[in-house]
Amino acid sequence: MVSDYHIHTVLCKHAEGEPKAFKKIAANRNIGEMCFTDHVPAPDGYDPANRMDIGQYDCYREMIRSVSGGEPPRVLMGIEADYYDGCLSFLRDWLPRQPLDFVLGSVHYLNNWGFDNPDERAVWDSVDVKATWRTYFQLIRELAKTRLFDAVAHLDLPKKFGYRPPDAALIEMAKPALDEIAAAGMAIEINSSGLRRPVGEIYPSLMLLEMAREREIPICFGSDAHRPEEVGYMFEESLRLARQAGYTRSLRFSARSRSFHPLPVC
Ligand code: ZN
Ligand code: FE
Ligand code: FE
Ligand code: ZN
Repeated sequence: MVSDYHIHTVLCKHAEGEPKAFKKIAANRNIGEMCFTDHVPAPDGYDPANRMDIGQYDCYREMIRSVSGGEPPRVLMGIEADYYDGCLSFLRDWLPRQPLDFVLGSVHYLNNWGFDNPDERAVWDSVDVKATWRTYFQLIRELAKTRLFDAVAHLDLPKKFGYRPPDAALIEMAKPALDEIAAAGMAIEINSSGLRRPVGEIYPSLMLLEMAREREIPICFGSDAHRPEEVGYMFEESLRLARQAGYTRSLRFSARSRSFHPLPVC
């Protein structure tokens, strides 16, 4: 099975399970490598309910270190870093100093609206859906421009509750973001957690994934596991989608450098 590059820990305050329980499931599912990517600390006070404090970062490192030896799979240390207005002064200074294997970039907020938070779902009924998606992809483009991240997480996350623009509009607004991702030499992840959400679909859609492949943007795989049994969640579906879009290989990372590996044969 392919590697799982998107796994959370209890430090984010909305996940459960010991690192060794995550590793056990990964081993059972024949996951090649697993990378913890918990939500990055944000000393500026951004979204404190969903992340570790900066003072807990050493604990995070220790949790990962505690499962990194011994039996396979190989365990990597990553982070899911949010891109938002004002994040750069901290991230530009802090990220390059961390001994990380992999940095996922993601967007979860538009201004002060946590658009993928179930508690804030009702806001979708009062916004212009197309304009909201456009703003989202502008942020993804800015994220790529920073050159701080290795891959973009859940590229079409705004579809989580089923609010979507028409395809033609989506193509037009995604293009500049994908062009910038390609120019940055970044990857995108195929994130199976959408299958557990109201939308019932992997992030990103086949259409966006085909646009990524046309630009030779590489892929990695993530379950966005917040509990042990979600490691490698429905990866057969993720693999099928990757092949359908024309992909034949995916990335692994180590100390922020990447290598290509052929997709497993079906
Ligand atoms: Zn989370
Ligand atoms: Fe995320
Ligand atoms: Fe995540
Ligand atoms: Zn996530």
